[in-house]
Amino acid sequence: MTDSQSETSPEQQVTAARKAFEQEFERFVRFTGGPRVLDGLNLEQALAEERALAEVRIRHLGKKSALAATKKLIGRVAPEERSAFGQRVQAVEAAVVSQLDEAEAALKSLIESQQIARESLDVTLPGRRPRYGHRHPITLLRERIEDIFVSLGYAIEDGREIETDFYNFTALNIPDNHPARGTQDTFYTTDNFALRSQTSTVQIHAMQRRGVPVRMIAPGRVFRRDTPDPTHNPMFYQVEGLCVDRGITMAHLKGTVAEFLKRMFGADTVTRFRPSYFPFTEPSAEFDFSCFKCKGSGCRICKNSGWIELGGSGMVHPNVLRTVGVDPQEYSGFAFGLGIDRMVALMYNLDDIRLLFENDLRFLEQFE
Ligand SMILES: [Zn+2]
Repeated sequence: MTDSQSETSPEQQVTAARKAFEQEFERFVRFTGGPRVLDGLNLEQALAEERALAEVRIRHLGKKSALAATKKLIGRVAPEERSAFGQRVQAVEAAVVSQLDEAEAALKSLIESQQIARESLDVTLPGRRPRYGHRHPITLLRERIEDIFVSLGYAIEDGREIETDFYNFTALNIPDNHPARGTQDTFYTTDNFALRSQTSTVQIHAMQRRGVPVRMIAPGRVFRRDTPDPTHNPMFYQVEGLCVDRGITMAHLKGTVAEFLKRMFGADTVTRFRPSYFPFTEPSAEFDFSCFKCKGSGCRICKNSGWIELGGSGMVHPNVLRTVGVDPQEYSGFAFGLGIDRMVALMYNLDDIRLLFENDLRFLEQFE
């Protein structure tokens, strides 16, 4: 015991303990005596005050508190004063407990009401409308093309975008030294692997897997080493068609393409074929159709010719059939291909085909 303590009486020590509490409790007095003083306290602040109050309680009522020390003095006061001193200590303790409890209850109710307010849902607020996406114009057109050919009895085939030299060139009657490899120069990954430069690769896979007869279309991406400009992009979409069976002739090819274009652009659409050359077909033909806008009289879309060039076609070359083990004496077939994005650009009168691949919402939103 220090000198100063020995000089203070037990009564003075109780008073000192009470004073020390009152001093620390001063900041919590505003939480006693009614809820109006709680205004302006947010949830985080109220929680912090609650923790601070709990510390005050431990400091002034705990085992090591000054008030607890005064209880040990009861035995040391004169017997005739003992009862009164004991009551005084109890009264001080009861007052401290009561003040702490009142402040704590007020803080707890404030915290609770703030938490309820935070978690509650205002059902009168307008909802947030979810933003729906929609399909890309190329997808929309691809699906229309697929629907037409499915109704004609064609299967939809999917193919890989990285191909071996064999499927992209050799099997399509384009041997190593063939000049057609130059015009289709593509993106080689490693030796003998390249991003496919045409969907015709799917013809070979389909005939190897399904055998013949076969009727299928293969829509998909192809890649060529082109410099992007308003009409070219190094990646674009094609759809490939193949029909192989006994007795298939050029008449079937012309009928199929004409029927497809009529369903696509209207019953009055006229189709024409122009002789051409492709390594994997013989004979080969490019096909045009009468302009869907001016119906052949000439306009900006058809560059005043009345015709729109659309794709290539021909009778499957006997070498291609032999490559997949089909006897060209027994079976014959036709194939055709056209560019989907080129068709989208025509139908929507786009000045620049690259708009289709820039993912600019201001452009894409017009196709909803
Ligand atoms: Zn026209």
